[in-house]
Amino acid sequence: MVEPHPRDARARERDYPLALAESTAERNAWLEVDTGALGANVAYLRDTIGPHVELIGVVKANAYGHGAAGVGPALERLGVARLAVAWVSEGVALRRLGVRCPVLVLGHSYPSDAPAAVANDLTLTCHSAALGTAVSREAWAAGKTARVHIKVDTGLHRFGVDIDEAVGLAEHLRRFPGLDVEGLSTHMANADEEDDSFAERQDAVYREAVARLPWIRFRHVANSATALRRPALRYDGVRCGISLYGVAPPNTPAAGLRPILSLRARVARVLSVPDGEGVSYGHAWRAAGDRTVALVPVGYADGWRRALSGRCAVLIDGARYPGVGRIAMDQFLVDVTGAPRVREGDIVTLIGQDGERFVTAEEVARQAGTISWEILAGLQARLPRVFHRDGVVERIFDS
Ligand SMILES: *Cc1c(COP(=O)(O)O)cnc(C)c1O
Repeated sequence: MVEPHPRDARARERDYPLALAESTAERNAWLEVDTGALGANVAYLRDTIGPHVELIGVVKANAYGHGAAGVGPALERLGVARLAVAWVSEGVALRRLGVRCPVLVLGHSYPSDAPAAVANDLTLTCHSAALGTAVSREAWAAGKTARVHIKVDTGLHRFGVDIDEAVGLAEHLRRFPGLDVEGLSTHMANADEEDDSFAERQDAVYREAVARLPWIRFRHVANSATALRRPALRYDGVRCGISLYGVAPPNTPAAGLRPILSLRARVARVLSVPDGEGVSYGHAWRAAGDRTVALVPVGYADGWRRALSGRCAVLIDGARYPGVGRIAMDQFLVDVTGAPRVREGDIVTLIGQDGERFVTAEEVARQAGTISWEILAGLQARLPRVFHRDGVVERIFDS
């Protein structure tokens, strides 16, 4: 007779919803996105900005790694009135998913992007007469009116046009057939820094642009940090990315936000490493005494950065274990010595909650020497995205 195993898998996963355990039973690694928490974040942000400011949901870069195919339609279902992306191709992808709300392209576009932009009713950020002309031609030929926004470079000195050029461009495009110059925007340089006094100076330039272009009806300036910290800079709409995903920017109070993403994997192997032996490439870590390590099938090709080698920690069955040795393209190891219950198939939490403990994207970012935006946006397409609502699986997106 087979001995009953010392622990029951279900009991060990006691806090882990059964539907998620079942749908991930034979997966190496995956992301979970909780649309219930996403809804709570939308509600919190709406509550904070009030009814007269539009919440623009920023879903560029595959919705900050969460999966735009799931997040885009989910935000639309939650009543978010407008989405924003960086590139035309990202906007086209949203339309293919059936998203119908206005979609703003925040970044640089070429005149050759005009046909796709007009055909898909995307709102371009227009930085040149050549782009405006191309959009106007396409729209006029299609019998449509295409919206464009003008971005003023008020001091970030990245994308946009300076104030005089913005005013000239807007007045020029205003007369074009098939064009609606709907929006005037800018972007802050120091939104989440302790000293954001430069925002005052940028806003002064922006206010001058608004005064010179009073006929442009939709004005927007704020990203998450500015939207949460500076009520006066909310204008007509706020462009929220990181906060929607439940991560507060530095120096930003946001007690009501809940992370919506978990990165999980299943232990692929448990092995003993005798005293003095090395593990993984370069043997960068050697066992001091006899150790037991567990193999986690996630690597830098998934976005689990090599800079986390020897610095990260993961959760298994509610306990924390340190990563050891170099992170490889597809896998890395954790030291589980003294935890005899860790077995092949156990769920490993790399970002998210397990029992009482959490690993946050901010913590991983600190360990990797970067910011949470880069950790999230770096999560690769190879990871399946399991969308669920408080543990009830809604849809799984495989790459
Ligand atoms: C990405 C982006 C945002 C969103 O910023 P968060 O800090 O993630 O809220 C807002 N505006 C512009 C122009 C952006 O490129």
